[in-house]
Parts: sequence; structure tokens; C-alpha cells
Amino acid sequence: MKIGFIGLGNMGAPMAANLAKEGHEINGFDLVLDVPEGVQKAASAAEAARGADVVITMLPNGDILKAVAAEILPVMESGAVHLDCSTVDVDSARFVAQEAEKNGVLSLDAPVSGGTGGAMAGTLTFMVGGPSQAFDIAKPLFDIMGQKAVHCGASGNGQAAKICNNMILGVTMIATCEAFVLADKLGLARDKMFDVVSTSSGYSWVMNAYCPAPGVGPKSPADNDYQPGFAADLMLKDLKLSQMAAQAADADTPMGQQAAELYRKFVEDEDGKGRDFSAMLPRFEGRGRG
Ligand code: NAD
Repeated sequence: MKIGFIGLGNMGAPMAANLAKEGHEINGFDLVLDVPEGVQKAASAAEAARGADVVITMLPNGDILKAVAAEILPVMESGAVHLDCSTVDVDSARFVAQEAEKNGVLSLDAPVSGGTGGAMAGTLTFMVGGPSQAFDIAKPLFDIMGQKAVHCGASGNGQAAKICNNMILGVTMIATCEAFVLADKLGLARDKMFDVVSTSSGYSWVMNAYCPAPGVGPKSPADNDYQPGFAADLMLKDLKLSQMAAQAADADTPMGQQAAELYRKFVEDEDGKGRDFSAMLPRFEGRGRG
């Protein structure tokens, strides 16, 4: 396929490189970065998009996505697909989908999980919203860049799935970290805590696969001095998006709200910026209730 790829940062560059390796013709554009190997450099977002079967965007936020969409949608062929893989707010995703429809372009929101490791290895999971016809066209590309793509329904539903998942993840991380600190204070060894919880009803992906306690459970960022992994800043971004959506939809999400506020403090007022999101555990250590 002829593919335009806009936004070649930590995630976009390896995704574009994987598509190029499989023989797709890629025209890439990034505001500041150069294109990765195998990708032809376009002079602008519009140039990358012109004549493409599929245009992929991998951008920082909804405002930037809307600005780029305004540039590319008018030059795209009728029936071509705009595949946005960025994590953005649900309203921006739905707005961009409406604009695409006005221009005769098929649109998908397809945020990913799996991080930069998954982008490089081609093992991302895509959560996809938008028309089935577009999903079918994009499916071979999902198969190259990822290991799973779930069609979640109408436009915006991919973003909805992503922020609901990450709200559960953020809340679970905090619950697991505070439980480890309570266990410490009660004199329960961390390896015993792990042995019990990972095989009891408190088990979770956080405890079993990404344990925030160093030296316990499988290898995780905790064993690498909390280098990310998944940075607390990115968790904060996703928790803010989930709270924006909850506000707009009038959904009562008290735990999500608490998690967003704790990660905000951790990233903005404490030492959480640039650390893995599991560094909540050392944050809780040494604190009392007051
Ligand atoms: P990044 O900042 O490394 O890359 C974004 C790129 O977009 C940058 O290179 C920037 O120069 C470019 N850009 C910005 N405005 C542009 C414009 N107008 N035209 C062209 N290029 C422009 O970010 P990233 O880590 O690659 O993340 C991209 C998206 O993926 C974000 O929405 C993020 O939330 C999401 N995401 C990231 C991860 C991760 O682990 N990094 C995991 C899952 C999802």
C-alpha cells in the first residue's frame, strides 16, 4: 500500500519502519524529527497524505491531531483511510471522524498499548473505533505493527477502550503499592506478600506481571531503578483523558479521580516525572497517614 505516516517520534518511527520492512511505500513527515530507514521524507503533512491509500497519524494530543487532520483530509483521495493511532480525548477523535466523513475519507481511531518495546517488536495491541470497511482495509497493517486489533465499534470507541483500561491500570497500581507499604509496616515480607496475592483474589496484571516491588516477581521496571517502562507522565495523561471523558459523560468515577490527582501530584509536585508509573511504591514508603 501507499502509506503516509505523520508523527515519527518514539512510537511512530518504529511503527513506520516495520511497515517499510514489509514492502509498503511510506511517505513520512515529522515537524522536527528525520524519517527512519526505509521511509521517504515528505516536505509537509499534506504531501505525505496526497495519493495515499492509508494515512497514519501518531501525535501527542487532540489539538495537534485536529490541526494535522485539517491539513490532510482535504487532499486525501475519496475512500482512503485516516488511521489515527495517537492517544487523544474521545471528543477530538469523534470530531476528526466527522471531518473525515465530510471529505469522503474513512476514519479509524486506533490507540495502542504495548509502549515503545511493542512498537519496535511489532507486538502492539490496537483498540479500534470506526467503520468496519475501514477496519478491513487497515487490518493487514495492524498485523504488521501489532499482535492484536480489537474492533470496538463506532468512532471514538477505540479511545474509550484505551482510557477505561488505563484508568483500571492506574487505580490498580496505586492499590497494589499502598498494600505493599501496609504489608511492610505490618512486618509481612514482600516475597510472601507476592506469593499470596499473585495466587489469590488480589491478583492483577500489575502484581503478577509488572510487580512494583524490586526483587519480587518477574523482572519489571522496579528492578531497573524505576526507569520507564511506562512513564508516570503518560499515565497522568491517560488519567486526565479518562476524567475529561467522565466529566463529559456524567460518569461517577471516584477511584479514577483519586488516581488522577495522585499521579498529578507525583509528576508535577514530587519526583515522579520521567520515572516509571510503578515508582508510586517508593513514594508511599516512609509516609504516614498525616
Ligand atoms: P513523541 O513525542 O515521541 O512523538 C510525537 C511526534 O509528533 C514528535 O516527533 C513530534 O515532533 C511530532 N509532531 C508534533 N506535532 C506535529 C505536527 N503538527 N506534524 C508532524 N509531526 C508532529 O510521542 P510518542 O511517545 O511517540 O507518543 C505518540 C502517541 O502515542 C501519544 O499520543 C502517546 O500518548 C501515545 N502512546 C505512547 C506510548 C509510549 O510508550 N510512548 C504508549 C502508548 C501510546
